[in-house]
Amino acid sequence: MKITTVPVKTYVTPSKIPGAGFVINPYVGCPHQCLYCYAEFMRKFSAHTEPWGDFLDVKLCSIPLRPQQLFHQHVMLSSVTDAYNPYEKKYEVTRRLLEQLVHCQAYVSILTKSALVTRDIDLLTQLPGCEVAFSFSTADEALRVQLEPGAGTIEERLEALKTVCQAGLNTAVMAAPLLPGISDFKAIVTACAPYTKTFRFDSLNMRSTFQHKLMDFIDVHYPNLLPLYNEIYLQGKRDYWHNLKQEINTFCAQQQVSAEVFFGKESSFTFTTPSRKTTPQKTLFTTEEPQLF
Ligand code: SF4
Repeated sequence: MKITTVPVKTYVTPSKIPGAGFVINPYVGCPHQCLYCYAEFMRKFSAHTEPWGDFLDVKLCSIPLRPQQLFHQHVMLSSVTDAYNPYEKKYEVTRRLLEQLVHCQAYVSILTKSALVTRDIDLLTQLPGCEVAFSFSTADEALRVQLEPGAGTIEERLEALKTVCQAGLNTAVMAAPLLPGISDFKAIVTACAPYTKTFRFDSLNMRSTFQHKLMDFIDVHYPNLLPLYNEIYLQGKRDYWHNLKQEINTFCAQQQVSAEVFFGKESSFTFTTPSRKTTPQKTLFTTEEPQLF
């Protein structure tokens, strides 16, 4: 892992994410190395030639956050990295930012795959209405190792969710990305429901940056699912997501937890013309890069 400290003019970026006025990404890069990482497009904004996941820029800003800008504003930590990647333990960039966000009394929401967030409970409990959300694409540890090799284990995340819940913070679970035929959303809800009633769900949105890696993974481990992936991503059929959305809503109602499903509407997806290659079942639609930073 190549670690570089990089001076920046500000940590704060106005956000286009619904409900988040500002976003802070304390790092560029992410050592969690998720197979489906949507944030790889950030590499082109850095000078790195290393593969995504093999470098981490530690942002350093000498100018303090401005309370007049952030007072009672919704700040998301983070969108294209994990603010609690393992190197945060040493560099404490996120912790120093939280100290300032407490001063600003910002509404902070955190999305992470790491139990390290529990280190900062003393600060998080001083923030108004702070929400800590944990991300799960699976509740199966063997699958987690394959999909998210650098991230915290399922057990660590569940234990951290419990700790954060017991500390009185708002908790949530982002069940995403749901991999067709692979992610068991019921197992995620069942495992997490004792510690949160707020669940959000999103589909796997295939991107050019990872489609070959991911399709190789499907090819090797789930060859029986290749026709389904072709149907969804090559032919653009929507039935799978419509049916899954209904299943999620029904199950979550039975479990008495809230479900916000970010797919199942035709407008949620933007398909662009694929650049066809030789193996049709591995050449899927690419989508627009997200503008999350
Ligand atoms: S935690 Fe998020 S940013 Fe980090 S590798 Fe995984 S998907 Fe990418």
